[in-house]
Amino acid sequence: MPTLRNAERRGAHEANRLAKRLRHQVGRAIADFGMIEDGDRVMVCLSGGKDSYTMLDVLLQLQKKAPVSFSITAVNLDQKQPGFPEHVLPEYLRSLGVDYHIIEQDTYSVVTRVVPEGKTMCSLCSRLRRGALYTYAEQHGYTKIALGHHRDDLVATFFLNLFFHARLSGMPPKLLSDDGRHVVIRPLAYVREEDIVAYAEAKRFPIIPCNLCGSQENLQRKQVGLMMKQWERESPGRIETIARALGDIRPSQLSDPKLFDFLALGHREGAAVADAHAWLAGDPAAHAPAGHDGHA
Ligand code: SF4
Repeated sequence: MPTLRNAERRGAHEANRLAKRLRHQVGRAIADFGMIEDGDRVMVCLSGGKDSYTMLDVLLQLQKKAPVSFSITAVNLDQKQPGFPEHVLPEYLRSLGVDYHIIEQDTYSVVTRVVPEGKTMCSLCSRLRRGALYTYAEQHGYTKIALGHHRDDLVATFFLNLFFHARLSGMPPKLLSDDGRHVVIRPLAYVREEDIVAYAEAKRFPIIPCNLCGSQENLQRKQVGLMMKQWERESPGRIETIARALGDIRPSQLSDPKLFDFLALGHREGAAVADAHAWLAGDPAAHAPAGHDGHA
């Protein structure tokens, strides 16, 4: 039927445009943050969710035309959750012909033992998962660890830190781990979640749900997610604006003296700077400039 063929053609055209956009955004993030260098051994962490499948897929495409040579190994952690379909990822990865490894570590038992019933397990689960993946990366000499967080994750983390930890910080596209031993990269940092959803559907990735364990994401993350969805509904484009703002920070227009030297601003040569204790004690002599009577 001609109308059906037209619809198929339109669908294929849309899918091509989407794939091109994702390659462009991932390529740009890699270049902007120097994520991948010549000779890098990139360990792509694959959970079986839409994000990590998309990341692997796009990186494999970019690898073919990249200006540098780097290797890719897909690594999954089998956490031994009951019902985890352990054949799905190996079958998929073999069909791609990509180098891969499955780490088998029963973090599920640890999490269910330690976390009281009814509490969300995701935070401990993620920490244990990170530990297992980082250890594997170190033991096998991977120079970069690629995680599938996307633009909306970066924005959500920013708001979680802002609302619940009184901190302006987020989830950076490139990061040195706390122990200084790993460089973590997030090639999907510029990619919208809704594009990933559409891409995963178009590519028919064999998605494995994360919540096989029955845990729910925590309330704070859920609240922030709902807030972002509502914003996007009422003011389309707002999340993109916020994401862009995360890359355009003006320390002199914020209020962190550790980030910007406000003390030096307008400081007159030779004028003494009174310390905070003196100001709080209200002792005018203590903050009078040396050799000066304190009058303007
Ligand atoms: S949903 Fe389950 S498997 Fe996924 S992060 Fe949370 S605790 Fe871990």
